[in-house]
Amino acid sequence: MFEDNYRHRGLRNKLVRTLRKKGIKDERVLEAIGKVPRHFFFDDALLEHAYQDKAFPIGEGQTISQPYTVAFQTEKLQVRPGDKVLEVGTGSGYQACVLLELGAKVFTIEYNRNLYEKARTFLPSMGYRPTFFHGDGSKGLPSRAPFDRIIVTAGAPSVPSALLEQLADGGILVIPVGDRERQQMVVIRKKDGILQEERYDMFAFVPLLGAEGWGAG
Ligand code: SAM
Repeated sequence: MFEDNYRHRGLRNKLVRTLRKKGIKDERVLEAIGKVPRHFFFDDALLEHAYQDKAFPIGEGQTISQPYTVAFQTEKLQVRPGDKVLEVGTGSGYQACVLLELGAKVFTIEYNRNLYEKARTFLPSMGYRPTFFHGDGSKGLPSRAPFDRIIVTAGAPSVPSALLEQLADGGILVIPVGDRERQQMVVIRKKDGILQEERYDMFAFVPLLGAEGWGAG
């Protein structure tokens, strides 16, 4: 059904080189990005867009994140094989595939029903099997907590308290926080119950909706 040939692999290798030049150092993350066929997420006519380092519309007013953003967040997440990872904002499912390539056990939650339905059919057809949920990820996923890692792929007004509660001890949360247009990447570590925060570059995500986001939208 899907074709992944030398041309696609060549484009992917080029993307990996671009990400390396832009400062991504973690070879495991680069390797994972080098494995996920991003063009499967695009119509054939849009192949030229699939391996550019750009976000792209996926319908419902949402985007598949820019590869650099995926690489940056994934690098900061420091995923180890077997980690239980919560992703808030399934979107296209691309980020979830990268996390699966790193050997994580991925729980991914999407607020938009159409995107949730699409991802939960599409990803398994490519051989990627995270556990899918439909709902408000700003409240986390209490039934499956705690999580070793939590990644939020939509811009939040502040760090949702539910996500801090659901982070395991020794865990890492990566979340863009700011206003509706621009957000700073925040990395929070929980160690012996104490939270440590680091702040990084500015990014531009679509808004995190829901109870601990920007409201119902
Ligand atoms: N990770 C995605 C990917 O790999 O394609 C990109 C995510 S897109 C930038 C942000 C997603 O977050 C959108 O699909 C949006 O519907 C979703 N979203 C927004 N608020 C949410 C919430 N409270 N819970 C779960 N998903 C949410």
